Amino acid sequence: MNSISKGFARIPQVEQLLQEPEFSSYIHKLSRPMVLDAIRKVLADVRRSGVLSEPDAQAESINRTIYQGIHQQCCRLLQKRHQKVINATGTIVHTNLGRSPIQPAVWEAVSQVNTGQSNLEIKLSDGKRGQRKGLVDNLLAKLTGADDALVVNNNASSVYLMLNELAAGKEVIVSRGEQIQIGGGFRIPDMLALSGAKLVEVGTTNITTTDDYLEAVTDNTAMVLMVHTSNFAIRGFTESPDINELSRKLPDHVLLAVDQGSGLTTERFAAEETPVSSYIKSGADLVCFSGDKIMGGPQAGIVCGKRKLVQQLEKNPLMRVLRPGRVVYSLLEELLVRKLNKQPEGMGLAERVTHHPETIRDRAMSLISGMEEHLELVESQMIVGGGALPDEHFPSWNLELNDARPAKTVLSELRAMPVPVIGVIRNNRVQLNIASVLPQDLGGLKEQLQSYFSTGNPV
Ligand SMILES: *Cc1c(COP(=O)(O)O)cnc(C)c1O
Repeated sequence: MNSISKGFARIPQVEQLLQEPEFSSYIHKLSRPMVLDAIRKVLADVRRSGVLSEPDAQAESINRTIYQGIHQQCCRLLQKRHQKVINATGTIVHTNLGRSPIQPAVWEAVSQVNTGQSNLEIKLSDGKRGQRKGLVDNLLAKLTGADDALVVNNNASSVYLMLNELAAGKEVIVSRGEQIQIGGGFRIPDMLALSGAKLVEVGTTNITTTDDYLEAVTDNTAMVLMVHTSNFAIRGFTESPDINELSRKLPDHVLLAVDQGSGLTTERFAAEETPVSSYIKSGADLVCFSGDKIMGGPQAGIVCGKRKLVQQLEKNPLMRVLRPGRVVYSLLEELLVRKLNKQPEGMGLAERVTHHPETIRDRAMSLISGMEEHLELVESQMIVGGGALPDEHFPSWNLELNDARPAKTVLSELRAMPVPVIGVIRNNRVQLNIASVLPQDLGGLKEQLQSYFSTGNPV
């Protein structure tokens, strides 16, 4: 027998490791096959490392390496799982943190529709096959003042569907100041190319006038597309056309479509942000926006506008590709009813927090209480985010952690907490912006911070 096979005998068996009580919670959260893979990988690594063939190899220390390795592997996988986090970034609708949280009351109200069977595509009046929109189109029409509306998976889909149905093979006029990229990979010129429409650029980065648009119109023009520049603002000498005037002056064969983006409807934040209803009122034929930014709903794209056009869009075979499922429809429906009734549960998070800096201060103070030596209250700002009001900062309060270690280390320890906390670095210190922390998470955040400061350990 050579020394290597002697060494192999010291390695615990796969099955024995899988039975270990200390790994059972991983099976619960990751599934048995995933944990099995992790165990096999760690054992293979140990075999490959050569420690087994070392003459003085200690079973105990090899075992320790194996157990630690399995814990590490499984923790790495657990961190990848979708899970609740605490948003202390001060960006209320944060694209990396799931954008709009859905109000618990709204979520609970649709639980039965989604955990049972539903009337998704049957008309209860006559038992015939129905459409999946339910009341969503009527509710959206009430909210925006449009004739009709439809829902797709996200707002990128809205833009794509409008262009593909109404402008493929034709020209679409877009201002040079609005040929933007939003987040990861959504570029207006790319969307146009993909949809089969031809981009006609007009104006300059800062100035585009009504005449610029009108002069670019040809017989082959299908649409003027105006895009809300949702993640930056151009300051100073700027001009964009009056929608009212533009819609009046455009010839009949040219549609006016607006990608409004944020989904601002009844909410009031800042005068500069134009709500969907204003565009409709000013004569836009179609306006599209996201359901999970300011509106506070699930991920969705909404197109509202003239009935004939909305119905035309719905007949496009792409609708079969882009349509959402009942989870989205039912959540939107519930949210919209509450929004139209002006109930607090119908408000998006951004609307609920931006005008109450004193509430945020109170929350910050109650978090500090008992942890004064570790936390300090500092003035700060919050932004709405998610492509809305890029230039608008609202007052907020931060808690600065009194920790001399490198800020990046502290930040990553916060992310390793049982409910990961996502903070920010300011002046080389870690800060928690309290504006974006959900009220229902304050208690849990405080407990985690208390145990972190008392043990010096995130868990
Ligand atoms: C956010 C945004 C989009 C993309 O919307 P998704 O819902 O992320 O697909 C498109 N256009 C504008 C103007 C936006 O603000």
